[in-house]
Amino acid sequence: MKALVVGGGIGGLVAALEFHRAGIEVDLFESARELKPLGVGINVQPHSVRCLDEIGVMDAMLDLGVATTGQAFFNNRGQHIWIEPRGLAAGAKWPQISIHRGEMQIALMEIARQRLGAGHVHMGHHLASFENAPGEGVIARFVDRATGKDLGEARGDLMIGADGIHSRVREAFYPDEGPAKWNGALIYRAATETPPFLGGLSQFMVGGRQTVIGYPMSKRYGDRGRSLTNWAARFFVDPARGFPREDWNRPGNLDDFLPRYADWVFDWMNFPDLFRGADAIFEFPMVDRDPLPRWTHGRVTLLGDAAHPMYPLGSNGASQAILDARELTRLLKSAPDIDAALRAYDEDRRPKTAEIVRQNRAGGPERIVTLVEARAPAGFSNIEDVMPRDEILGVMNSYKTITNFDLARATV
Ligand SMILES: Cc1cc2nc3c(=O)[nH]c(=O)nc-3n(C[C@H](O)[C@H](O)[C@H](O)COP(=O)(O)OP(=O)(O)OC[C@H]3O[C@@H](n4cnc5c(N)ncnc54)[C@H](O)[C@@H]3O)c2cc1C
Repeated sequence: MKALVVGGGIGGLVAALEFHRAGIEVDLFESARELKPLGVGINVQPHSVRCLDEIGVMDAMLDLGVATTGQAFFNNRGQHIWIEPRGLAAGAKWPQISIHRGEMQIALMEIARQRLGAGHVHMGHHLASFENAPGEGVIARFVDRATGKDLGEARGDLMIGADGIHSRVREAFYPDEGPAKWNGALIYRAATETPPFLGGLSQFMVGGRQTVIGYPMSKRYGDRGRSLTNWAARFFVDPARGFPREDWNRPGNLDDFLPRYADWVFDWMNFPDLFRGADAIFEFPMVDRDPLPRWTHGRVTLLGDAAHPMYPLGSNGASQAILDARELTRLLKSAPDIDAALRAYDEDRRPKTAEIVRQNRAGGPERIVTLVEARAPAGFSNIEDVMPRDEILGVMNSYKTITNFDLARATV
């Protein structure tokens, strides 16, 4: 069996490594000629770290990132609402890892080159078109995006479209889908070197409608007593003003959001200083896409952001891509044939990830902060009077169930 994986993001790379480990021949095609450390921080949840452990890359990731132990929630006055244990501290068998996305991608690519062999990792190969050729599998054609040069075709028994939010593969099956859906929120993302905060290993989420999330994401910085703090500031604007197409690398301007946070100066974090300290700020609209009626078409299926782009605030984008890769591999090994495996993958992963897309639209875990701010706009003296512990636990646990946290406790 030979698989073609289109896209060398975290989803495509983990799929390629999973396939290789399962004895499935694999060729990976990445549009970029060379990877640069693009993006800022992401979180890999314990259930997905479990997959990284199974394919023998977890330690390499822990050498780069931080094993996060908690997520603390605050209202927009900096008052502490709740701390949620994370990863090992929450009883999972694997840690949660906060990590620089680009560093993770580059490290996985290096491991893929070593394991698959350099001849099976095709950089500068942009998928231009493909076809399901009955009886022959899939034929994919590639170009060099920079020059337009035709790079010929590749054939496989199946093809995985792991080509991100602007997926060419998805577009081929859903040509009328149109642009991603924007909910009117903008996210400004960056990393700033700071002193350690909240004990050094904790994420924070401050504010409900107007929010900042952040976390340390670098072991290197931690080892010298500092924190490379990933942060994302999110707020809503009038959606009627429109927004240019989402681009993970679009530069953002400090002046476009700093005034909104001018009084966010708390004893544990000075947010205006945090924002001013960043070397480069990126602007991204909060977009997703409606869940699809089908991912698998013939011998071609979708994975990761190509299949289920979701709001990037629930810490789930990379994690769910990794779970897709694990489940697809498991089915390719256990189902009677490739067609049955691709169908079963679609039937299993599509509804699960659709539910996360919907849940993130409804608010995700930050809902507790939104509720607290609505009930006590002037702040509180005792959180129990505003939102009792059981209610907080109810919101947190329902999100954890939907996002498959229980997988991180499993032993098989
Ligand atoms: C540059 C970049 C920066 C990001 N930064 C952040 C961030 O700061 N925070 C966050 O939460 N999420 C970020 N993300 C998204 C996050 O990485 C994903 O949500 C998650 O990791 C799932 O990844 P994926 O592999 O499905 O898709 P992606 O990470 O988007 O990877 C898709 C890959 O496919 C390649 N590709 C696209 N089209 C083609 C084609 N036609 N042929 C071949 N290859 C193709 C792309 O170059 C890319 O490497 C970023 C994504 C990108 C691409």
